[in-house]
Amino acid sequence: MHILLVKVQHKILDEKVDNLIFHLNEGLESTHRQLANNYEGTAAAQHLCSAIGGLLGVLALQKDFQGCFRHFPREAKDLALGKELPADEHHHLYELLKATLLNEKNHISSPEHTLAVFAKHFALKRPFFEPYFQLWLKVAESKLSPSARVLERLAYGTLNLVEMMVDQGLLHDAVYRASEMDTELLLRYNQNRVMSIDEALMEGNFDVDNTKLDLTNKRIPCIKCGSYAPLHGYEEIEPGSKHYIAYGFNCNHCGMELFDQKDLLLAGIKPIYEIS
Ligand SMILES: [Zn+2]
Repeated sequence: MHILLVKVQHKILDEKVDNLIFHLNEGLESTHRQLANNYEGTAAAQHLCSAIGGLLGVLALQKDFQGCFRHFPREAKDLALGKELPADEHHHLYELLKATLLNEKNHISSPEHTLAVFAKHFALKRPFFEPYFQLWLKVAESKLSPSARVLERLAYGTLNLVEMMVDQGLLHDAVYRASEMDTELLLRYNQNRVMSIDEALMEGNFDVDNTKLDLTNKRIPCIKCGSYAPLHGYEEIEPGSKHYIAYGFNCNHCGMELFDQKDLLLAGIKPIYEIS
């Protein structure tokens, strides 16, 4: 990308990252406080939702810069295509780019857009993050109240997203460093899932094959009670192949829940099914 566009991109990113740092710190600190003292409240969840939105916004600005604007001027498109410009035009052009691209009214920052960018560029990471994104949308739209379990899941999803973006070079590791409490939360979350799935498997104690999926209504037998219930997932279509990517399971009969794809794997449930 042309240096002038990179300069504008960094200006937008700097502001977004400042905002992100605030919500990450507030969100995670208040989550730990709320979980430790067992009180109700929505502030922690709201900060975590803003942090996830901010992380995805930072990701989209780097992976699909042009797509982040309602109007991307012709001069910017020329620069994006690598067209060289006389040096004496740089100043004028930079002012023009700033006027159009720094204007927040011109920014597209809807979850639909940022999630589509994520799905396109991180197809392999999507199965793990999808249930956390769905949870984020529900809490952000106030369709779900943030119970302790919801809050813990949001924090777990946020911390994993930060780690993934640092690994991918999309976020500087100084933006957020996991605290001792964060590390404890991650550990506790993973220990709890192993324990509850092991318990369910022992309690189930019957021989069902939950590696085969009824492709019409995407149902498999529950590991705990054997009742059939739907696997949550999405279809991934590529040239010449179509797959169902499962990322979670909920049994309406006994309440058994496998929240993410790691849970499915621990329960011995196949996460990818060929449709055609
Ligand atoms: Zn069940």
